[in-house]
Amino acid sequence: MTEIITADGIRSEVRPWLVENWDPDLPLVEWRKLLVASGWAVPSWPQRWHGRGLPAWSDDVVGDEIRAAGAAGLPLGSGAWLAGPTILEHGSDPLRERLLRPILTGEETWCQLFSEPGAGSDLAGLTTRAELDGDEWVVNGQKVWNTSAHHADFGMLVARTDWDAPKHRGLTYFALPMRQVGVEARPLRQMNDHSSFNEVFMTDARIPRDLVVGKVGDGWTVALTTLAYERRFGAMGRPQFSRGSGRALDEAREEAAEHFATYAWYPQRAGRVDLVVDRARESGRADDPVVRQAIAKLLSMHRASGWTADRARAARALGRPPGAEGSIGKLALSEVARQAAHVHTMLAGSDGMLTGPASLLGGTVAEILVSVPAQSIAGGTDEIQRNILGEKVLGLPREPTSDRDTPFRDLPRSG
Ligand SMILES: Cc1cc2nc3c(=O)[nH]c(=O)nc-3n(C[C@H](O)[C@H](O)[C@H](O)COP(=O)(O)OP(=O)(O)OC[C@H]3O[C@@H](n4cnc5c(N)ncnc54)[C@H](O)[C@@H]3O)c2cc1C
Repeated sequence: MTEIITADGIRSEVRPWLVENWDPDLPLVEWRKLLVASGWAVPSWPQRWHGRGLPAWSDDVVGDEIRAAGAAGLPLGSGAWLAGPTILEHGSDPLRERLLRPILTGEETWCQLFSEPGAGSDLAGLTTRAELDGDEWVVNGQKVWNTSAHHADFGMLVARTDWDAPKHRGLTYFALPMRQVGVEARPLRQMNDHSSFNEVFMTDARIPRDLVVGKVGDGWTVALTTLAYERRFGAMGRPQFSRGSGRALDEAREEAAEHFATYAWYPQRAGRVDLVVDRARESGRADDPVVRQAIAKLLSMHRASGWTADRARAARALGRPPGAEGSIGKLALSEVARQAAHVHTMLAGSDGMLTGPASLLGGTVAEILVSVPAQSIAGGTDEIQRNILGEKVLGLPREPTSDRDTPFRDLPRSG
């Protein structure tokens, strides 16, 4: 007889486990090792790979229980969010053995090394090269806009390994050890004065031969998996450690503070819809019909985009692979952010350009205005999301291209 798995059934198993095992005085890594060994860290992963083989929705149910118990959960960042699921899906068993556990315990952190100065939207046009030399790959090239690369242990690196294959077929996906002399991450300063991403220069950087995710030459397929998980990202929640003290919680709070220092401007990037109604009242413009109309439009778009996010969550709960909701949701977030910036500008006028403690909301309004453009770029631009929807969802003809079958070496390239 098939056992029916319910959320209540899962709760009734994980709660007593937490009561028995959660010990805030443990070092954070030791606690996470227990969590991973129990299969409750990512219950939807296969039993062999630190999970319990439960449905995808069980991750959320268990995550809520861990928070409710006041315990520390999975580490934040692109390791557990992007690298882990990609390695689980495409990695060989020895690679999973080597890389997955330290991702889940937080002992090894990750960054994404995809974009290059000449290859962003046209990611498959990248020119960072990796060549096999005995038991190592030797990497030369430059990446850019790499969030958190300055403190990551590993990079999800896509590099060209075959220049005679067409552009999408000569790529390979690597796990690049970041802490070596051949890798230099230089922080970039953004127009909102934050510094969350880097240029990364690789000069004869070394990768052990077997740190290839998927097959050599099949990096494009693997990269698409990472990008699909990235589009699912949506809102970045803050972990709740409101109550309790102890070593594990202190270390988890420290880890979260470091993580969120990088992302401190992301709420502003999303437009800060939460501030709009109060700002309208404070500025005395809440009765202005034009302002009211713009706010009503914004709040309606925001609500509808929340429903799209709910649909994406429901699809995930049903175990469906990332689908069209990712691109639609990402586009919706861009539209909401732009409309929010428009409303903030209507309300603030030229004061919105002022920064510093004496300016509107201590400079938050100005930060919104210069951060919102990033929403339409990160993780694939709006135009690229529209191309994906047109081709993959609506079945429209592909964009005409002349470069899909030509050896990459023979393609005209800038620089
Ligand atoms: C906040 C943030 C975080 C990021 N983090 C990372 C990271 O961690 N790792 C990483 O590797 N990258 C990261 N990126 C980089 C991001 O992925 C790229 O910026 C993005 O893919 C766009 O590439 P590009 O900047 O080279 O723009 P381009 O590709 O040069 O695009 C320029 C313009 O041309 C348009 N365009 C290009 N091609 C087409 C087309 N075929 N059809 C229609 N319009 C087109 C684009 O929509 C855009 O408007 C990050 C970016 C941001 C803003």
